[in-house]
Amino acid sequence: MAFQDRTLTCRDCGAEFVFTSGEQEFYAQKGFEHEPTRCPQCRRARKRDRSSSSGDRTMFDAVCSQCGAATQVPFSPRPDKPVYCQDCYRAVAGRRAR
Ligand SMILES: [Zn+2]
Ligand SMILES: [Zn+2]
Repeated sequence: MAFQDRTLTCRDCGAEFVFTSGEQEFYAQKGFEHEPTRCPQCRRARKRDRSSSSGDRTMFDAVCSQCGAATQVPFSPRPDKPVYCQDCYRAVAGRRAR
């Protein structure tokens, strides 16, 4: 069965994009039943969003070793490691960079 280029409309930005015969073949080989609903740009943007905000990152409650403020850190706080709130972290990291 031969595939033919098809023009689809992106559901995010409304732009038209070409679902090429090569892509259709790829989709068919992978067993994807749905055609793409977004243009390549929006697909890439969404992928970037997902990896940067990595949705289910667990945050742990911690107390800043510097100023004693309650804060949250993306790792389990350990008693032998200092934990900083965002402000102090920035100050500490800034000092280290210089
Ligand atoms: Zn789009
Ligand atoms: Zn602090």
